[in-house]
Amino acid sequence: MDKQTEYVLRSLEERDVRFVRLWFTDVLGYLKSVAIAPAELEGAFDEGIGFDGSAVEGFARVYESDMVAHPDPSTFQLLPWREEAGGTARMFCDIRHPDGSPSWADPRYVLKRALSRASDMGYTFYCHPEIEFFLIEPDRQPGAEPTPIDYSGYFDHTAQPHGTDFRRAAITMLEQMGISVEFSHHEAGAGQQEIDLRYADALSMADNIMTFRVVVKEVAMSKGVRATFMPKPFTDEPGSGMHTHMSLFEGDNNVFHDASAEYNLSKTGRHFIAGLLSHAAEITAVTNQFVNSYKRLVHGDEAPSFISWGRNNRSALVRVPMYKPTKGSSARVELRSIDSAANPYLAYALALSAGLDGIERELELPAEAEDDVSSLTDRERKMLGIKTLPRSLEEAIQVMEGSELVAETLGTHVFEFFLRNKRAEFDAYRHRVTAYELDTMLPNL
Ligand code: GLN
Ligand code: MG
Ligand code: MG
Ligand code: MG
Repeated sequence: MDKQTEYVLRSLEERDVRFVRLWFTDVLGYLKSVAIAPAELEGAFDEGIGFDGSAVEGFARVYESDMVAHPDPSTFQLLPWREEAGGTARMFCDIRHPDGSPSWADPRYVLKRALSRASDMGYTFYCHPEIEFFLIEPDRQPGAEPTPIDYSGYFDHTAQPHGTDFRRAAITMLEQMGISVEFSHHEAGAGQQEIDLRYADALSMADNIMTFRVVVKEVAMSKGVRATFMPKPFTDEPGSGMHTHMSLFEGDNNVFHDASAEYNLSKTGRHFIAGLLSHAAEITAVTNQFVNSYKRLVHGDEAPSFISWGRNNRSALVRVPMYKPTKGSSARVELRSIDSAANPYLAYALALSAGLDGIERELELPAEAEDDVSSLTDRERKMLGIKTLPRSLEEAIQVMEGSELVAETLGTHVFEFFLRNKRAEFDAYRHRVTAYELDTMLPNL
């Protein structure tokens, strides 16, 4: 038995844990959980816990549905919001087939494969997300917009019944679970919040994001409100992005840093951005996976709709944030398309693969966009070689279908499932008569 497993088994006794929840993520990014009694845990470490894969989105076809969840002891944490009810703990799982081989459908495995490609090139991939979400009132009429819990704006700190208090409670709970928070503030939209996590390796970070979503929803509920990570819940408020700052390290050395280069951005960093830009359209169906995601990616409101980069340009898809050159380790690039409802494992696997492809092929970075890209005319953008991101889920699916990089990174199983699922989502949406049509056309036609 290894040290981590021993630690988990010991903690169960010391902390009087009554339930252990085994967590994993389906292909669309929904968290799945099965609770087991502590007495079952030793067996779960040895043999895993079986479940019906055909009942989980994207996992299996019916005739090969037996799947086994193997808890990862390094992810053991007590759930602070369950303390009164007797201890509950959780672990993330790796999903395998009964023969022990990893499941192709497991998003964690997709990310692990991408990370091992990075590590073959000598790199560790670090991420830190800025996660935006809305706090809304719990009651809502079907079909109506939700009601935000406040009408404050960016960085506002007014005495409010919920926002500040909410962030303090959420952050305390995240810290109790070993997730460090760097910043938090009210965002621009009414009821909109942002919490930024301290950087970690991409796998831990994807796990952290899954935990974050649960914690935020739990804390919201405990305060009598609701939290939503829906990309664009309000027509007239900004959407919720999950801008992610990314860097590659070789040992202790941040390879995006070069003190002698423009913006202190190394050649490797430039190639990485060039890779992100060259594959940006192909990976959008995953970084922005719902029909609603595309309502956020319209210009204005600081969400990208064009494929460009810039140093401090908030209309750009990729931004190079400034940092003190003495702190070379904080060199990074910020990808701004990903939204708060993306599956973080798949989104990070694809962003990494796109960047690595840029490094491998030594792709040249096009000129930086200096203006607000969305205020340029189509002609001006064309002359600058700035293309648009897909404008709907349908467009995004079409570009993804032709992408070798996405097929290879996700693996055939996830690639095909994802496309099937998203085509069905778009069809369901397409045939629906919307409030917009009824409100603007019914009175006049
Ligand atoms: N809410 C904006 C988005 O959707 C980002 C706003 C900001 O953090 N500058 O991307
Ligand atoms: Mg921010
Ligand atoms: Mg923000
Ligand atoms: Mg940002």
